[in-house]
Amino acid sequence: MCGVFGVFNNPAASHLTFLGLHALQHRGQEAAGIAVSDGYEINLKLGEGLVNKIFTEEELSQLKGDIAIGHVRYSTSGGSDPKNIQPFFAHFYGGSFAIVHNGNLVNADEIKKELEESGAIFRSTSDTEVFVHLIAKAKEPPPSHIILHKNDEEFLPLVFSAMSKVRGAYSLIILRENQLIAVRDPYGFRPLALGKNSKGSYFVASETCAFDIIDAEYLRDIKPGEVLVIDDAGMRSYFPLDHTQNPKKCIFEFVYFARPDSMIFQDWVYEIRKEMGRMLAREFKVDADIVVPVLDSGLLAAMGYAEESGIPLEIGLIRNHYIGRSFIQPKQEIRDLSVKLKLNPVRQVIEGKRVVVVDDSLVRGTTSKKIVGMLRKAGAKEIHLLLSSPPVISPCYYGIDTPTKEELIAANKSIEEIRDYIGADSLHYLSLEGMVAAANKHRQKGFCTACFDGNYPVL
Ligand code: SF4
Repeated sequence: MCGVFGVFNNPAASHLTFLGLHALQHRGQEAAGIAVSDGYEINLKLGEGLVNKIFTEEELSQLKGDIAIGHVRYSTSGGSDPKNIQPFFAHFYGGSFAIVHNGNLVNADEIKKELEESGAIFRSTSDTEVFVHLIAKAKEPPPSHIILHKNDEEFLPLVFSAMSKVRGAYSLIILRENQLIAVRDPYGFRPLALGKNSKGSYFVASETCAFDIIDAEYLRDIKPGEVLVIDDAGMRSYFPLDHTQNPKKCIFEFVYFARPDSMIFQDWVYEIRKEMGRMLAREFKVDADIVVPVLDSGLLAAMGYAEESGIPLEIGLIRNHYIGRSFIQPKQEIRDLSVKLKLNPVRQVIEGKRVVVVDDSLVRGTTSKKIVGMLRKAGAKEIHLLLSSPPVISPCYYGIDTPTKEELIAANKSIEEIRDYIGADSLHYLSLEGMVAAANKHRQKGFCTACFDGNYPVL
């Protein structure tokens, strides 16, 4: 999970990218970077940690130029090496470029092996670097159905060639000295949107919440398979891959990842997440006194559940917002307390009540077990855990850091065994059909649901 952001035609490009990344911080907290072009050369600054810790005002002011890209990184297993921080930058015979990537390539290892055998030297362990090498090495002419603008004749065939070789999920933004290029894989796994402000600056971002913070308006999504070029000659789109795919948008973005104030895949996350809660209430009627969300991720589904079931919503778990992901937990006894550091039950609300607890998903089960234990201790009479997504049974290969199959509790235990493990009185998951129907409420079609059903669109 990562977030990408790009700006074209704004003298405050680095500052706006900083703000855009700040809005996308939920998509990755491990590291971030910004690359800026002043029309002649590209400069970049990378760092570990949260966006507002990495960039000082002075550093942003030194990153001069009108075009910029940025990235927030959520490192996947074994990937927290600082060498993996993006943007990646490369000089090659055709000039220079920087690139940011959200997603994951499924054939990165085999391409990497081939490239290494032909002499390429990789400096990172990130699959994004595969794009850098493929672009720098490409020699093929553009596909015959493509007529290129003269500004695109040299570089774009290299991007098209790279796209024809990789498989998997990629929402990319590429920065050249005088161009911003947005690319989305033919399945459209990860979101990527285009925006504009009143001064004629263009923006590209993983989620539209990044446009709100800089007063830009959402124009449209970058389409699956689209390469969008923005430069002084205007904006142009190419669709270089002749094979058309049915879109496979990541449904987990609606379940959990994207911010509720964002529009992704042309629909509002807020409404769809709430609809998943309503659907849950239609599927499972529970005789209970209160509905309690697991904050923040379960809030909207709990609101939907309460609305549909008529059971009142109560904030029976309070979240402490000052626990960052970087909290160091050296001792096991402290690690065991980590859920308590984040969530605390309100005894006055919980005591003696039959409680419906709503969360978005259940992955390993360890957090849910602790929450149920806390509610029990706070005096809950009954605890019914409801999830606004189906059991997670398979890992994600498209850029979401889900655990391996061995660690996914639903891949190894029945629902009854999971209920018993977490100690709830009952446990209900939203059905796959219910989740997809909720996400389809407003014309959405074509989702990846592989982590729930094991049907991988591309391997
Ligand atoms: S496998 Fe799951 S998390 Fe990964 S892209 Fe598909 S729906 Fe999203």
